[in-house]
Amino acid sequence: MTDRHFDAVIVGAGFAGMYMLHRLRTMGFSARVFEAGSGVGGTWYWNRYPGARCDVESMEYSYQFSDELEQEWKWSERYAAQPEILRYANHVAERFDLRRDIQFDTRVKAAVYDDPTGRWLIELADGAKVTAAYCIMATGCLSSTNTPNFKGLDAFKGPCYHTGRWPHEGVDFTGRRVGIIGTGSSAIQSIPIIAQKAKHLFVFQRTPNYAVPARNAPMDPEFERRFKANYAQLRAKAKQARTGNLYPISEKPALEASEEERRLEYQARWDKGGLGFIGSFADLLFDKAANDTATEFIRSKIREIVHDPEVAKTLSPHSVVGCKRLCIDTGYYETFNRPNVSLVDVSTSPIEKITENGLEANGKEYELDAIVFATGFDAMTGALFRIDIRGIGGQALKAKWSAGPRTYLGLATAGFPNLFTITGPGSPSVLSNMLPSIEQHVDWIADCMGHMRNRGLTRIEATVAAEDAWVAHVNQVAERTLFPSCNSWYLGANIPGKPRVFMPYLGFPTYVQKCNEVVRNGYEGFRLSEK
Ligand SMILES: Cc1cc2nc3c(=O)[nH]c(=O)nc-3n(C[C@H](O)[C@H](O)[C@H](O)COP(=O)(O)OP(=O)(O)OC[C@H]3O[C@@H](n4cnc5c(N)ncnc54)[C@H](O)[C@@H]3O)c2cc1C
Repeated sequence: MTDRHFDAVIVGAGFAGMYMLHRLRTMGFSARVFEAGSGVGGTWYWNRYPGARCDVESMEYSYQFSDELEQEWKWSERYAAQPEILRYANHVAERFDLRRDIQFDTRVKAAVYDDPTGRWLIELADGAKVTAAYCIMATGCLSSTNTPNFKGLDAFKGPCYHTGRWPHEGVDFTGRRVGIIGTGSSAIQSIPIIAQKAKHLFVFQRTPNYAVPARNAPMDPEFERRFKANYAQLRAKAKQARTGNLYPISEKPALEASEEERRLEYQARWDKGGLGFIGSFADLLFDKAANDTATEFIRSKIREIVHDPEVAKTLSPHSVVGCKRLCIDTGYYETFNRPNVSLVDVSTSPIEKITENGLEANGKEYELDAIVFATGFDAMTGALFRIDIRGIGGQALKAKWSAGPRTYLGLATAGFPNLFTITGPGSPSVLSNMLPSIEQHVDWIADCMGHMRNRGLTRIEATVAAEDAWVAHVNQVAERTLFPSCNSWYLGANIPGKPRVFMPYLGFPTYVQKCNEVVRNGYEGFRLSEK
């Protein structure tokens, strides 16, 4: 029984869903947000693990749709920690009175397009149903946690935690033997903190990752003042960069620089800290030989920091740097000098099983009091596939995307009219500073809905031809880079059986240009109609 009807249903109350709601309400649309969690903030609501913080500088990792909000909010550190970002999300919810249209603790189970009425039928986990003219997925690129299917997963007597579903009350590891599985970004942030408390920390590493120092520090008031005085110009400048970030990307190719020039540049970026390391030279993401110069520099740093040469060797990656999202750390490599930390290499023989008392790896049993899964996410498509999304003629999105996601601009997919995805596959999303990417998508969708309303149109659908051309273009751009060369979650490589397809689009400015062009050309590549 359908009991409620909206212009738009928005799934998810992270930064994407919150701003989408604000925009639509301001335009006079009726909108309802459904959120599985009990509060706003998405990523920052769920990822409460010790050490969680942003890797894009706080002054940039924030909304820009409201000058007042931008000016009044004060970040306390160069990279804000999770509690502060969550406070920010709550502040935004309050300031723009968002909560009255968000239903928390409500998972969306299914979204089915009803051909005869041209409406989306949305089914909630408790069986309730609502309908909407538009269904907007703000479900997040990194919200569907991944726990590998280890043998004996339920056997362990002690507590297990996933970094992406951390208990709200926190976890006290004092005096406990802790095992952490995974060495991606969440592990790299949490390991130094957990090690300070644990009796012993065993780090189970399948693939080493590159990390460069964050150089986090309290916010410099003078930096903040200057930033706030020039916010509009700085935001505009960031949008000209391929990642939507302000860090400078050199125009010089690494291989045209002398060895000494390269060393000085890498050292300067290492000392400054942050993601800017990858902008040291123009060709790092495009030329393997250039990339090798950067990776050798990082390995030399690991050798310098880590006292035990064997441990340093095991921690040293030989893959392409930047091919997986670069991690930024605070004391990660140094942590392996602690007597209470052991690195366990499980690259050649994987973890055999979880046991009652710990886990078995390399033919040895490790006795543990707690296990932390820092095993990441089923990225980009995971949250969408957990919803039974069906378009024209009952076609399942999961079936349509069985060989990899197919979208037009990462915003829409043919056969699913009036369905939008915010930061969907095929858009810059995870290869960019996500807040500006989110805002750009939300604005595009809201403007499109406004356009439709003004012209008495009710139905918009991407054409197959436009979608095919876009998918081909996304792949072409990826193939010009080194991204396809490593087993990253950008490619779905962390999920067994997931098709190996590079999902995000590299190049924020060209992407925005394309989206604007599509609009200028009367929503080129979309079919718009009254019914
Ligand atoms: C630890 C971590 C650190 C990060 N740091 C950065 C950073 O520094 N810079 C950066 O640019 N990006 C970062 N990211 C990426 C981050 O996800 C985005 O920046 C941003 O927060 C995404 O917002 P969102 O609203 O699109 O998605 P999310 O914040 O993931 O929100 C999606 C919401 O949808 C809800 N949802 C999903 N499915 C359903 C359903 N079926 N029914 C109801 N609700 C549902 C989820 O519960 C979730 O609350 C980080 C990600 C992680 C995991």
